[in-house]
Amino acid sequence: MDVAVVGAGPNGLAAAVTMARAGLSVRVYERNSTIGGGSRTEELTLPGFRHDVCSAVHPMALASGFFRQFGLDQRIGFVVPEISYGHPLDDGRAGIAFRDLDRTASALGADGAAWRSLMEPLVRDVDQVAQFAGSPLVRLPAHPITAARFGLRSLEQGSPFWNVRFRGDEAPAMLTGVAAHSIRPLPSLSTAGAGLSLGAYAHGRGWPVPIGGSQSIIDALVADLLAHDGAIETDAPITDLDQVRPARAVLLDVSPKALSSLAGDRLPARYRAALARFRYGNAAAKVDFALSGPVPWTNELLRQAGTVHVGGTRAAIAASEAAVAAGRHAPDPYVLVAQPSLFDATRAPEGSHVLWAYTHVPRYSDVDQTEAITRQIERFAPGFRDRVLASSSRTAVDLENDDPNYIGGDIAAGSASLWQLAARPVLSLNPWATPARGVYLCSSSTPPGPGVHGLGGWYAARRALAAEFGITTPPSLSPTPT
Ligand SMILES: Cc1cc2nc3c(=O)[nH]c(=O)nc-3n(C[C@H](O)[C@H](O)[C@H](O)COP(=O)(O)OP(=O)(O)OC[C@H]3O[C@@H](n4cnc5c(N)ncnc54)[C@H](O)[C@@H]3O)c2cc1C
Repeated sequence: MDVAVVGAGPNGLAAAVTMARAGLSVRVYERNSTIGGGSRTEELTLPGFRHDVCSAVHPMALASGFFRQFGLDQRIGFVVPEISYGHPLDDGRAGIAFRDLDRTASALGADGAAWRSLMEPLVRDVDQVAQFAGSPLVRLPAHPITAARFGLRSLEQGSPFWNVRFRGDEAPAMLTGVAAHSIRPLPSLSTAGAGLSLGAYAHGRGWPVPIGGSQSIIDALVADLLAHDGAIETDAPITDLDQVRPARAVLLDVSPKALSSLAGDRLPARYRAALARFRYGNAAAKVDFALSGPVPWTNELLRQAGTVHVGGTRAAIAASEAAVAAGRHAPDPYVLVAQPSLFDATRAPEGSHVLWAYTHVPRYSDVDQTEAITRQIERFAPGFRDRVLASSSRTAVDLENDDPNYIGGDIAAGSASLWQLAARPVLSLNPWATPARGVYLCSSSTPPGPGVHGLGGWYAARRALAAEFGITTPPSLSPTPT
């Protein structure tokens, strides 16, 4: 065996596919009995209701350089909702991020011009934004003008002056809804960067929902790996690197904490000390609902949105994220909601729906958030509670038990602070390589960080191909033979 990959999440599989496509023999080891890590779809509530266990909406699936080379959109179906995300306010108003930037700006009235001037340059160069947004140290020099535009906007939206350009509530609430994905106090440079990049994808390429759920993305990767003679072993937890030797290269889709424990004293003390300084962030707690009908949002446009950010005004969401940062459960939490079955009939029996929702909680929380999430949705969609047929809840602690990369329930696999966007897991121009010969980290604890994009795996694999096998031209990943 040439290559061992530990962990069958999207990054582990992206690494495995890249290595197998280069003609190497590859074996993937996955501790769980199911393949896919944070990208799986299962019947969590009732028969026929197929829920995304973790990721549901994939802003990076069409923008990621890896998935574009892999031709993901030729291998599986996507629906790109006309409304990427919506953001309800208490009086029935809502901010609506249409895919179409012009339509969004028109609907924002007095703030339309401000929204357009903030977003337009980023939307125009959205693929460049996608390249450097999550890995500033490694990718920034490639597109200096886009980087400068992005940086200036992040400075504005990451500062106490984040309201200066806006007059109404909708536009600032919309930006806060996307920035709050970072699970960090707002405003800050890192949350602004996350918000602006997600906001740019919303108009540039949309926020796609895969037909069949996030499992379809994994199934496409697995099919390609098997077609190129790769192998996957499930129920195969790796606790020591000796278990996967004599592979010449080992790619680890694990946390920095697990890297340290797996590699032990094969790593120098200084590097292990740096890994021990890597900080994990606060957490998510998730609830999946089986519904007898769609969510009865007061604002009817929200009934067509792929994603809805629930929590109210900019100030209200900032307050709820501040509570989480201070180690408390927010009384009126920010909730991310996805409505995949509005676009994908394979997900629920006819007329019924699945609803995916999570909120932010302090790390290691074991508090069930079903009631808090239900109450918040009901606030903007009276009658929601009556449509719930069944639900399935996972606390922050449950998330780590299911996937050890999410330490304490941190679904970003490491706090997405500004420092840790650059130093992920350590400050280096080649953060995927470790000082242990042939050992690479490829999880979302490396650039460009969280999300289903496969880039961590792809970057790590390309480094390993060059350094361990002398293969400097990356293999074609195309679905059709070239
Ligand atoms: C609740 C939730 C919602 C999310 N929503 C979205 C979303 O809507 N859109 C989006 O883009 N992203 C979302 N994400 C984030 C996304 O799922 C992750 O960023 C992504 O899955 C990271 O991929 P990965 O391959 O690095 O790690 P993972 O997907 O976590 O995969 C790691 C794999 O390695 C296995 N493993 C770990 N240690 C070992 C070991 N020692 N031996 C063997 N196997 C091991 C794990 O079991 C797991 O299967 C969400 C995550 C969660 C948890």
